[in-house]
Amino acid sequence: MERDLQHLWHPCTQMKDHEQLPLIPIQRAKGVWLYDFDGRRYLDAVSSWWVNLFGHANPRIADAISRQTRELEHVLLAGFSHQPAIELAERLAAITPDGLEKIFYADNGSSAVEVALKMSYHAHRNQKEERALFLSLSNSYHGETLGALSVGDVALYKETYRPLLIRNIQTPVPRDRSPEATAEALAALESILEEHGPEIAAMIVEPLVQGAGGMHMYAPEYLRNAQTLTRRYGIHLIADEIMTGFGRTGTMFACEQAGISPDFICLSKGLTGGFLPLSAVVTTEEIYRAFYGDYTEYKAFLHSHSYTGNPLACAAALATLEIFETENVLAVNREKAERMADNLHRFTALDNVKSVRQTGMIAAVEMIDYPATDRKGLEVYRHGLEHEVLLRPLGNVIYFMPPYIIENEEIDMMMNVAYEGIEGIRN
Ligand code: PMP
Repeated sequence: MERDLQHLWHPCTQMKDHEQLPLIPIQRAKGVWLYDFDGRRYLDAVSSWWVNLFGHANPRIADAISRQTRELEHVLLAGFSHQPAIELAERLAAITPDGLEKIFYADNGSSAVEVALKMSYHAHRNQKEERALFLSLSNSYHGETLGALSVGDVALYKETYRPLLIRNIQTPVPRDRSPEATAEALAALESILEEHGPEIAAMIVEPLVQGAGGMHMYAPEYLRNAQTLTRRYGIHLIADEIMTGFGRTGTMFACEQAGISPDFICLSKGLTGGFLPLSAVVTTEEIYRAFYGDYTEYKAFLHSHSYTGNPLACAAALATLEIFETENVLAVNREKAERMADNLHRFTALDNVKSVRQTGMIAAVEMIDYPATDRKGLEVYRHGLEHEVLLRPLGNVIYFMPPYIIENEEIDMMMNVAYEGIEGIRN
């Protein structure tokens, strides 16, 4: 720990906190469990920032990566190609909603969002339309590079950098899943479109569940209608499925529940089962065609990352998709989601719980509005660690997003520990 603090600057952390709060070096992990050097273990209730699907050190994914390391570890993807990138592109085109055919790789979620934003703007530009404005939902999160931060709306991450950001406006996210909330938010969207419609390149959304915004959930009807409305103005729809993709919400992609085919889907996190960084932007033939033509200086999409389409990451993704194909994952998840629901009900009896909600394998408990500076979530986090569960609250929201291989008893244990942690908060 001392050596760590000597040189490492940790993400999303006030480093001074570590004067009080010990860091936890992890030695190894297996399934849902992380093991430290002192023989303690922690159930990874947040799938290590929502990336892990089939357990840590999953042997099928590990073997696929290992095999790939001995064949081809990396090659640039401009002018060259390789089997894992091609196969994965074919599979992604096959499993994403109809009409999404072309795959552009990047290497993390924020970069995928940057790619989608730039592609949307550029596609309009290639069609002689200047649209330098983006539209997103209030309370949204799309990553922390400057473009992604611009379309997000979590003040904690965004406020400091406001002078550096690209142009974006926000329309209210439905406040809950009720038809009234959906209708109100759609009316607000309609009036924003009347005012700004022709200036907007794309609307970007986290479909059904806003993650970093506190696991806020809204109805699929909103998405369906938002797509109809935005299409009237020639606005692209970008579905940021970086968190919701790959079965997390109960369907392979959250968009399926709304029956929509967006113009872009951004994928990352679970794409490699949580093993390696990789992301993909999946888009339509129409967008692709907007860039296709003889070489002129500004028409092609001249965006690249050194590790674009890395073969090891693609091999991990292929092994992950194979598990989906062979193990009936979505059906098994439905049973596990039910077990989570059974456990979730009783939280509503606690005085300091405001509401509970769930979509598929994401369950959340929102505590009452404790002031941010009280850091009550941190108390629950500490309680979790003392009782073998890694919970990482988002402000006053304690949530559960475990790897899909979690057992029923582990679900009960994870949620029991959180219950006791919330119950034990000193007001
Ligand atoms: N979009 C969403 C919906 C996310 O949840 C995240 C990560 N939490 C990102 C984008 C950014 O991904 P990354 O952290 O890989 O840059």
